[in-house]
Amino acid sequence: MEMYFCPLFSGSAGNALFCQYGNTRILIDAGKAGKTIDEALASVGVDPATLDAVLITHEHSDHIHGVGVMARRYHLPLYATQETWRAMDGKIGKIPGDLIRTTQSGKSFWLGDIGVEPFSIPHDAADPVGYRLWGGSLSVSTATDLGEFTENVYSAVRGSTLVLLESNHDPELLRANPRYSAQLKARILGDHGHLSNAACADALLRLIGAGTKHVILGHLSAENNTPALAQRVSETAMMREDIRPGEDVELQVALRDEVSSIFRLKETD
Ligand SMILES: [Zn+2]
Ligand SMILES: [Zn+2]
Repeated sequence: MEMYFCPLFSGSAGNALFCQYGNTRILIDAGKAGKTIDEALASVGVDPATLDAVLITHEHSDHIHGVGVMARRYHLPLYATQETWRAMDGKIGKIPGDLIRTTQSGKSFWLGDIGVEPFSIPHDAADPVGYRLWGGSLSVSTATDLGEFTENVYSAVRGSTLVLLESNHDPELLRANPRYSAQLKARILGDHGHLSNAACADALLRLIGAGTKHVILGHLSAENNTPALAQRVSETAMMREDIRPGEDVELQVALRDEVSSIFRLKETD
């Protein structure tokens, strides 16, 4: 069977990632208006009424903006850790009790045909997680909004067929940005902030060494990065290690405000 993965949106203006395996269709985060997510799903041929669930990473609004609307409109169960549920209180409207699912990082569960593994990430939220999604021998991992690529994150995602990893900013551009306060800069650069292009590239080399064949750079900053720059930093790091981007490993950048291409992973990958 094939696994499908498509970043609908990725970045501080909203996040939503679509994944399908077998008969199961899920979203990771719904951080744009419900209508915008509906339209994005329709553009890749997915009727939102056929979704099975939304997995939530953390309570920042760029990840949960549309989850309440989506849950109520399509009767979608929402999965989040207990601390994230507490932190979302008052931000997503009333959620019917039968749609509330509480997860724990490190504890896997089945959602239809997909195996779900939430893992803890270092970020300034109540109890943020990334996800590894399993379909047969395939797996897709997503880790954005993390200040550091910790050993815990590495062991959770190593060996994934596809990894969407944060390549948030160029530290020089960020430091020089006159529109960001010193406090905000410190927050982003801190070990519970966001991953830089260089830190992302280092992490990707390890993951590729452990067998990952498809890489997506995500959650790019609008002001302190560009898709071309993020891509160049990762490609340069790969080429230094004799890894040929586009041949040995597929490398793409998730778009902030447009639906990215659909990745079709086959069991032979
Ligand atoms: Zn975010
Ligand atoms: Zn965040």
